Amino acid sequence: MFVLKTDTGLILFDTGSYGSADRILKSIKAAGFEPETIKAICLTHWHGDHTGGLAGITAFLGANQSLDIFIGEADLPLLKDQSFHLLRFHPFLQLPVLHGPGRLPNSSNARFCPLNTAGCEILHQKYGITAIDTPGHTPGHMAYLHRETGSLFSGCALSLLTPHVAGLVPVFHDRAEQIRSGEYLAGMDFRYLLPAHMCLRRDEIPLERRRPVSGKKGVVSKLMGDHLFFKIL
Ligand SMILES: [Zn+2]
Ligand SMILES: [Zn+2]
Repeated sequence: MFVLKTDTGLILFDTGSYGSADRILKSIKAAGFEPETIKAICLTHWHGDHTGGLAGITAFLGANQSLDIFIGEADLPLLKDQSFHLLRFHPFLQLPVLHGPGRLPNSSNARFCPLNTAGCEILHQKYGITAIDTPGHTPGHMAYLHRETGSLFSGCALSLLTPHVAGLVPVFHDRAEQIRSGEYLAGMDFRYLLPAHMCLRRDEIPLERRRPVSGKKGVVSKLMGDHLFFKIL
């Protein structure tokens, strides 16, 4: 997960896996920020390793503070449903994997904002963040762009598979959609790429540092079913 400091307050991007709320709140404090000033949570998707800390963080904020929780419109029912669903692992083998959601917040201070036209407008007006529809890993996966800093929070729609190669994680609801979404993000004019899994880099990777990688490369890559978009120079 990531935290962004804005004039409106702190914004979290995802909330880690089950039971990670305390650790998240402690590390926000350790970084010199006040967790009491969290105003919004932008969820990339409903999976438990992204929504696991939601209930704990909401409970910590208590009834005195309202919290906007943004999530893709198609993923909100999957989170609210609180049951396990099947995903596919590997583009060719299509192995079934079960995924469950994090616990729902039970406090009345949490307001879910599905990212339809109105939800996207609220997110943009109030927090200066643009939601980007990136289905494929889940039906309602969302990426988020903070234009002011050029930061793209890509969730599981675009990952750094190695520190130098951007591509897709081989877990998906719909692989064709996931490829389309990943391709779109890979061509966007962002400076920092902040994905949920695999590798992370702190330097700027503007368009001029990216070189396209076509299709799948190498035996290991083929076996893994990797889909690669660009190399970083
Ligand atoms: Zn996921
Ligand atoms: Zn994940």
